[in-house]
Amino acid sequence: MRVLLTGGSGFIGSHIALLLLERGFDVLILDSFVNSSTNVINRIKSYLNNKDLKYKLETINCDIRDKKLLDKVFNDSIKEKKPIDIVIHLAGLKSVSESLINPLHYWDVNVIGTLNLLLTMKEYECYSLVFSSSATIYGLSDSVPMTEDQKISPINPYGKTKVAIENMFSDLYHSSMNLWKICSLRYFNPVGAHPSGVIGEDPIGIPNNLFPFLTQVAIGRRKHLQIFGDDWETKDGSGIRDYIHIIDLAEGHLSSIDYLNSNDSCLEFINLGSGIGYSVFQIISQFELSTGCKIPYSIQRRRDGDVPICYADISKAKKLLDWSPMRSLEQICLDGWNWQMKNPKGYS
Ligand code: NAD
Ligand code: UDP
Repeated sequence: MRVLLTGGSGFIGSHIALLLLERGFDVLILDSFVNSSTNVINRIKSYLNNKDLKYKLETINCDIRDKKLLDKVFNDSIKEKKPIDIVIHLAGLKSVSESLINPLHYWDVNVIGTLNLLLTMKEYECYSLVFSSSATIYGLSDSVPMTEDQKISPINPYGKTKVAIENMFSDLYHSSMNLWKICSLRYFNPVGAHPSGVIGEDPIGIPNNLFPFLTQVAIGRRKHLQIFGDDWETKDGSGIRDYIHIIDLAEGHLSSIDYLNSNDSCLEFINLGSGIGYSVFQIISQFELSTGCKIPYSIQRRRDGDVPICYADISKAKKLLDWSPMRSLEQICLDGWNWQMKNPKGYS
């Protein structure tokens, strides 16, 4: 089975790619490398070579907004008699703060990019899609844990682009029943790294997210962690999130492929998280306990666009996908730290 993996060189995409290749899928990674390194692909290849695994992997440097090149990718695949059976679409921009500063860029890349992809998939009769949505779409929710059917009210442009994309899926699905198979996976906070330490999270520039910032403080690349607010209405005043091990998240994509393959037509919106909420202070404590590192921190004002608390109800994923997260917060800290120690400067 041939999978087109857009954004496959990024943090989440690289882990999905590795799992797909290990399980015998033919993988075509499409990425513009705007937020990732080409070294990622070499790392994946050398990991598989060292394990003596035969694999089918191709990479193409392409911006998803480039319709002509997208056409060529699908067309060439058909000509080579290995048409794309399914698309896992991760290519996009993901920083909340950046989206507040440059919203049109986010609408362009995320929404226009996805529109392009859907148009191309339709033209080449590829109707199976797994998409990288986000818990950000729930915004300021009255109740936690978040269920898929609760109010959608994003409070930043990034989240609004994900909602627009989900709406596009709904319109498309209802316009041509019995054709499309779509799983829109609403990720919570994917963290950690592959246990080998061969691939992991390596944000370009200063990390926006808590976990990569924390590991960079631990390795000495940053002086101290800034905690964005200790005055939220939570048990210890810091923000609460749902941290899910990146391999558990990647496994959720394989389960989604199985689900799509065993259904005629469907459109499902599904939370992928651990189902547990941890505060920033709890994350620091667990990281210190698991790794023996001391994390210096300072308290800063709240970050624009943040919500106090966000964690998932994952019963739908468990039921529909027959999937459950298997890895603990301790495992997340150990694997994340292993990656950072083996790659103090990331991929560079
Ligand atoms: P990432 O930035 O590491 O990976 C995204 C990849 O997409 C990068 O390799 C980047 O080069 C590529 N890309 C960006 N714009 C592109 C374009 N126009 N054309 C082709 N490639 C392009 O991010 P990630 O953490 O791996 O996230 C992947 C997806 O999951 C994103 O769509 C993101 O919104 C979504 N998501 C991520 C998180 C998270 O916390 N990491 C949470 C929820 C949803
Ligand atoms: N956070 C923090 N310092 C940082 C980055 C994040 O205190 O350097 C906090 C943030 O306010 C939130 C939690 O950590 O409460 C998770 O933030 P992250 O950006 O990782 O995820 P998101 O807010 O996008 O869910």
